[in-house]
Order: sequence, then C-alpha cells, then structure tokens
Amino acid sequence: MLRISELVAGYGAADVLHGIDLSVGGGEIVCLLGSNGAGKTTLARCVAGLLKPRSGSVTDGGTRLDGLSPSQRARRGIALVPEDRGLFGGLTVADNLELGGFRHGRRHALDRLSLVVEIFPPLASLLPRSAGTLSGGEQQMTAIGRALMADPRFLVLDEPSLGLSPGMTRQILTALRALADDGIGIVLIEQNAALALGVGDRAAVLRRGRIAVTGAASTLLDDPMVINAYLGGR
Ligand code: ATP
Repeated sequence: MLRISELVAGYGAADVLHGIDLSVGGGEIVCLLGSNGAGKTTLARCVAGLLKPRSGSVTDGGTRLDGLSPSQRARRGIALVPEDRGLFGGLTVADNLELGGFRHGRRHALDRLSLVVEIFPPLASLLPRSAGTLSGGEQQMTAIGRALMADPRFLVLDEPSLGLSPGMTRQILTALRALADDGIGIVLIEQNAALALGVGDRAAVLRRGRIAVTGAASTLLDDPMVINAYLGGR
C-alpha cells in the first residue's frame, strides 16, 4: 500500500497542499481529479521524491520514503510518468525504453521490452523511430512503457490524456486497467474525469489543495458536484 498522510507541501512561502490523505493498493486505480492549479502535479512530485513535503508522509508498505531520491524510489518500485512525458526526443523509442530498465540488466530489459510491446503493440514498429517524431499518443505509450521497464509496483501518471484524441485516451486507459488487473497500483491524475472514472476503482477530487470529495469511482460519476465541475453538468 502506498499511503499519503497529512501531506503539506508548497513552493516558497505558499502552501499548495494543505493536508492530503490518499492511498492506493496493488491492483487498484485511484483517480485524482481537480481543475488547473488544484495541486495534482505537486502531489505527484511529492510521491516521486521531486519535491520535499513540509510535513506529513508518503509511506510504502509502512516504510516512510522521506529522504529517498526519485531514483531510489523508482528502484523501490514507485514510478512517475510526468505531465511532459520526459522523453529524450533525439533518442529512439528503443533507447528511451531501455533507459527505463537498464539498471536491472540486459536480460531483464529484453524481457520487459517484450512485455511493454505486448501492452502497447503499436510500439513494436516504432522502436527505431526518434521519440521526438512521434504523435502525442505514441509518445505517451513510450513514456508509460519506459516507466514499466523498471517493473514498478506503483505508477503515478500525471494527465496521460493531455493533448490526445478520445480514442487514443481510451486505448491508454484500457492498458492502465489491464496493468492494474495484473497487480500494479495506479494513481491516475486526469482532467478527463468521465474517461478516468470509467476505468478507476476509487477517486478523489482535489480542490485548492484539499481533498473535497472521495469515494468509489462509480459513485463519483453520479455525484452532482463532480458532474457540474468535471463532467460538463450532464
Ligand atoms: P495543472 O492541471 O494545471 O497541472 P495542478 O492541479 O497539477 O494543475 P500544480 O501544478 O500542482 O496544480 O500547481 C498548484 C499550484 O502551485 C499552482 O498555483 C501553481 O501556480 C503553483 N506552482 C506549481 N509549481 C510551482 C513552482 N515550481 N513554483 C511555484 N509555484 C508553483
């Protein structure tokens, strides 16, 4: 279980997160919704070790992760797919993927690579292409694939659907559901609430640095506040 407790974080003098409690277990997708500036990326950065919280904790199986660098957390099995995807545009897809798995050795990397291609079949023919020449959806598959190369137990994705068509978004979210069904715990940060809640198990709405609503994803799909704020008032 990856658990965020009473987390307070911010930049300079300003607090952005005012005491967040959120957890994700293996095999489940927890959607984190919220409008621009609510603090979703800040929370992802605290989990990944890119930003030091002012107080509160992030624990993995009860062990506090304070003081662990992003790469140490990745080695523990906590991977972040950042909003900008963080690919090396001048390198090939194969090289980008390999960078995600190199620390486990070549044999392991080859095994992981075939698994990643199984999850995202379009990557098979894209392996020799420069990552910078890919479409948004192909880049997102590569970014998630690179995170998967390290065999993570927990995956935090910061708005994977950003800039993607609804069809491509659905394809990516379906793959995430399959990964969760295989046992990975996923925190899915999304603006596209309808699609995210469709694949999620639980969800939380972040508003101005506080969790405003939390519950089963299917319940939130019917919550008037969520419908008005994130589902176009349908
Ligand atoms: P978005 O959907 O736009 O990415 P978000 O919910 O992810 O929004 P954050 O990126 O976490 O929100 O930003 C929360 C607040 O923190 C915003 O007011 C933002 O301006 C501020 N903020 C983010 N990064 C920094 C930074 N490096 N320095 C100072 N303030 C920042």
